[in-house]
Amino acid sequence: MTVRQKLYEGKAKILYATDDPDVLVTYFKDDATAFNAQKRGSIEGKGAFNCAISSHLFKQLAASGIPTHFIAQTSVNEMQVRAVTILPLEVVVRNIAAGSLCQQTGLPLGTDLPQPLVEFYYKNDALGDPLLTDDRLQLLQLATPAQVEHLRAMALKINDLLKVFFAQCDITLVDFKLEFGFDRTQQLLLADEISPDTCRLWNQASDDPEQRVLDKDRFRHDLGNVESAYRQVMERVLKV
Ligand code: UDP
Repeated sequence: MTVRQKLYEGKAKILYATDDPDVLVTYFKDDATAFNAQKRGSIEGKGAFNCAISSHLFKQLAASGIPTHFIAQTSVNEMQVRAVTILPLEVVVRNIAAGSLCQQTGLPLGTDLPQPLVEFYYKNDALGDPLLTDDRLQLLQLATPAQVEHLRAMALKINDLLKVFFAQCDITLVDFKLEFGFDRTQQLLLADEISPDTCRLWNQASDDPEQRVLDKDRFRHDLGNVESAYRQVMERVLKV
């Protein structure tokens, strides 16, 4: 058996090299962290749920013209992806106020935003992933103004597609985080994952602020039934 070279191990995934330098393998772990890794745990089956959900969503987005790093799901916990240089940015899109937006602005949880809000955060654990302004993006040379506009346009298009997709699953897409990277030809590709770890997803069948939660907030806030929420998202997503 060939021993694969581990390139990187993150909080929720491991990246392996393959024989092809343009192709990597992402392994989805059951490990879960929250609040900048101050809270740690494990969610049984999460790796498999997130791998299946992400694979399906990347396929749907690719079919709608979004360039992604996804190549194929190769096992229960693994997907093959194109090698990219990840931009150190977390691109967050919000449709409804939740999480840090409520904490930092005082907007009540659940406020419908008049238009989607796109935000850029610096992917830097030591600094606590701070919110960036356009001027800070330029100052730190994290992306050119043209790249920022390209990222914003892609994030909004992805939001339009995902909102419709999740609505077909009777799920409201509250907010989510995206990551992007450049491949060897300098094409910008959607990368990382799209899963209940990186999205807030509310079950449309419930108005209860705790029961409706189908995402990592169940783990963050000890709401219980974390595994079954992730499983439910997977089952609904795979049906569409
Ligand atoms: N998010 C993420 N990784 C992060 C920070 C945020 O996937 O490091 C996702 C989070 O799950 C939510 C959205 O981005 O869907 C907005 O998160 P927010 O800024 O409200 O931060 P949080 O409440 O998680 O601190």
